[in-house]
Order: sequence, then structure tokens, then C-alpha cells
Amino acid sequence: MVLRDFVDIIQEFLFSPGSVCPLCERPGASRQLCPTCLQAWAALAQGMEICPRCGRFRAISQTGGLCRDCRAEEPPFVLARGVAPYEGPVRDALYLYKFAGKQELASPLGILTAALVKDLFPSRELAGIVPVPLHPNREKERGFNQAALLAAVIARELRLPLVDRALLRARETTSQTTLSRAGRRVNLAGVFTAGEDAARLRGKGVLLVDDVYTTGATAGECSRTLRAAGVPFVYVATLATAVIREQSEQEANQIGN
Ligand SMILES: [Zn+2]
Ligand SMILES: [Zn+2]
Repeated sequence: MVLRDFVDIIQEFLFSPGSVCPLCERPGASRQLCPTCLQAWAALAQGMEICPRCGRFRAISQTGGLCRDCRAEEPPFVLARGVAPYEGPVRDALYLYKFAGKQELASPLGILTAALVKDLFPSRELAGIVPVPLHPNREKERGFNQAALLAAVIARELRLPLVDRALLRARETTSQTTLSRAGRRVNLAGVFTAGEDAARLRGKGVLLVDDVYTTGATAGECSRTLRAAGVPFVYVATLATAVIREQSEQEANQIGN
């Protein structure tokens, strides 16, 4: 009886602190999202397919094939993929991560993104992991770059080098959320420059990492900058990817960034 109490206390001491889901705080493994969270995320993608090039989600169609944007203009990256649609609980998780001080979510969210990358992109073709840079002022304000923390976890999981000075942000941009697709592109023109580490990646393939893919304007501009610096193959991985709503492209363009 006494021994059993002692064992219970020891077990509680060893296993209960931190063994809650880092997102919803239900009991679970502390390093990963719990099954309830993962099921809720998986449910978002039910009845959806993705554009084979940009990876944005859409309702399953008869026609399949590339989305309207990828048909209109070939993206400058090889492929882009996200773990889950940027909706409901995924959007909430990113809000907590970016704006509510839950920086520790970088680890479980990065692990999920790394698993996606492992399945999709050939590691031997990737010379490094490159995060989308944040302007230093914005980073100072937030305290961290959400893409860089995810990229660091992915680099660790896949045992690939983190190359965080390959891309730099030359100037601050105004919020993209109210801009159209074309407006975003104008807003981002010349924002990124190749940093001193880009030379190391010349002639190679890289994985560009961001937290969200919405219109693809940011991923596109970063890819163009890397390609201009001699990096021919850019793969893009994000935690969340926007859903294309057939009723209006406008709506897809106005999803927050
Ligand atoms: Zn959970
Ligand atoms: Zn597409």
C-alpha cells in the first residue's frame, strides 16, 4: 500500500509535468500534438484535394490538375506543400504560436512539417533549409522569427544544414492581408535579397520554410531571389496552406498573412 503510493508519486513526478499536449493541454506526449488535435487537423482536409504544384487545398473536383494561378503563370519553385489547411484549429494554433507567446509550439509544429518534407522531397537533393526572413524590426517586436524556428526544427529532424543567411529582408512591408494577389506581388518586389550564405547553395536544391502559404506571393518572391542567386531548385514547405474557394479567388487572396 505504502509502496504503491510511493510508486504512484514517483510516476506522477516523472510523467505528469509537461506530458500534456503542447497545443490543447490535454494529457498526451509533451513533444507532439495529441491525437484529438491531430484528428481535428486531419478532418480539415477531408473532401479536399491539392493543386499538384502549389499545394493549396480545394474541394475535390472532376477536373483535377493545376489551379488557376499555377496555370496562369508557372511558379518559380519546384513544388510547395503544407501540412494542413489554414482554417479553424490550424489557424488558431498559428495565432497562439505567433502572437500569444507560445513560442514552444515551434517544436511540435516543426516536427509535423519535417514529417511532411521527409515523405515528399528527396533529402539528398536538399543542400539546406532556408527560412523566409522577417525584417529585423518585426523580429524584434515579436521576439522571434516564426519561420526560422520552424526551419531550425526541420533541419534538426532531417539532419540538414540550416542556412539562415541565404535570404535577407531588405525592407519592411505593409501588411499583405488586404492586398490582392497582384498587389501583394508589387508590395514584395525587391523586398528580399540574397545573403552571404546563398553562394554555398549555388547549383543546388533548397527547402524554403514559412509558417503559412496563402497566395504564394512570399514563397514566389523568395524563390525568384534564390534562383537569381544561382540556386536552381527551390522546394517550399509550410505548416499551413490556404484553401482555394471556388466562389471567389478574391477570398483566397484576402486570407491573412
Ligand atoms: Zn491537443
Ligand atoms: Zn496551384
